[in-house]
Amino acid sequence: MSKNLPKTYTIKNYGCQMNVYDGERMAELFDAQGMTPADDKNDADIVVLNTCHIREKAAEKVYSEIGRLGKTSRNPGGPMIAVAGCVAQAEGSEISRRAPTVDIVVGPQAYHNLPQMIADVADGKRAVDLDLPGLDKFSQLPQKRKTGASAFLTVQEGCDKFCTYCVVPYTRGAEVSRSWNALIDEAKALIDGGAKEITLLGQNVNAWTGEDDTGRAQGLDGLIRALDRLNGLNRIRYMTSHPNDMTEGLIAAHGDVESLMPFLHLPVQSGSDRILKAMNRSHSRDSYLKILDRARTVRPDIALSGDFIVGFPGESDADFADTLSLVRAVGYAQAFSFKYSPRPGTPAADMDAQISTDIMDDRLQQLQSQLVADQSAFNSKSLGQTCEVLLERPGKFGNQLIGKSPWMQSVHVLAPDLTIGDIVEVEITDSGPLSLKGEPTMRAAA
Ligand code: SAM
Ligand code: SF4
Repeated sequence: MSKNLPKTYTIKNYGCQMNVYDGERMAELFDAQGMTPADDKNDADIVVLNTCHIREKAAEKVYSEIGRLGKTSRNPGGPMIAVAGCVAQAEGSEISRRAPTVDIVVGPQAYHNLPQMIADVADGKRAVDLDLPGLDKFSQLPQKRKTGASAFLTVQEGCDKFCTYCVVPYTRGAEVSRSWNALIDEAKALIDGGAKEITLLGQNVNAWTGEDDTGRAQGLDGLIRALDRLNGLNRIRYMTSHPNDMTEGLIAAHGDVESLMPFLHLPVQSGSDRILKAMNRSHSRDSYLKILDRARTVRPDIALSGDFIVGFPGESDADFADTLSLVRAVGYAQAFSFKYSPRPGTPAADMDAQISTDIMDDRLQQLQSQLVADQSAFNSKSLGQTCEVLLERPGKFGNQLIGKSPWMQSVHVLAPDLTIGDIVEVEITDSGPLSLKGEPTMRAAA
């Protein structure tokens, strides 16, 4: 039975910033087809669930979300449903088997084919595309970018590191870097669209390599230096980095590239060398700490962030104590911490000595109390100081705007005469564990 082509869409993103970027690119693709975002998210002609598979229950959440859309084989009149992202890649055709109301299953490297897939569905077919063709999609997405004051730019995809707990190498494929020219062009399109800040994204963003327009080999630091020279770009950030790809050149860039913000997100996962080895992280506690020391040497005010997993198989009390001592030694400005989640098909899922939920809960609670205390302490050092804030979005209250300090802190500003995209000098008047409040003193840059 053929169906009408959808006119309105809703995209629901789960997981990391790379999915947010992919969701933005899908929206641009739909806009170029003459479709518009649905005014009422529950009443779109097509719903895209852009999924994440990094931790357990992600797939189950997707199935219950599909159920909530209220379409059944007896009542097929609901929206067209597309499952995109890493759950689509990992589950594949199993999705259509378990949830026959799903029309489209599309992996993270094939979503540029969505318009054709939608046309196929309108012709009465079901569409599945799980190819991992590397970088094909980027050349086929609209070149004009729709953006806010702070924009994401994916520079690298995939991962060859194969940490024993992680699904990314399987769902996102091998490491590939986008070309220098493609990235400079997309950065210019983002600046033309109003971006003042660009965050370079990749599963291992600092593994990016390429050749510049003179054919010279470059790493992420070279790309950052080239972006720094673009007119109209005030701030550059990058995430997520792997410790083994933190080159001297990239660390040095933190010392002398003015637009590179003083913030480094560098996941460590554990403070125990024994666990790091079992995780196949290929860095040690000491080599990680040395990188942070060097970053602090070139940029003493740099804010540090990390990712942690508690309860990896075989993690003893002593291993966990090593993680806590590393956290205390570093004093993170912010961090993400997770309970280990066994992922089918990864080596760690079959390891002996899986840790009980009770122990994981207890360790996560201890770790997070330390991290929250450190984040509060970091934020409270800003009290009474002034800093530049890029205003990014409206707050909950009238006249309130929310932006980011250079150190990635959220700052709430009451500013009737300011607009999103302004960079303002703000005096910090209040601090909490998650955010700061401030009053503008003067406008810093247009
Ligand atoms: N490439 C980055 C790195 O090397 O750290 C991380 C990217 S991964 C998408 C984001 C974070 O998810 C990881 O740093 C890790 O803390 C967490 N993570 C990945 N697999 C996990 C698992 N099986 N259980 C719990 N957390 C996990
Ligand atoms: Fe996953 Fe990061 Fe390890 Fe790659 S380096 S396998 S993305 S945790």
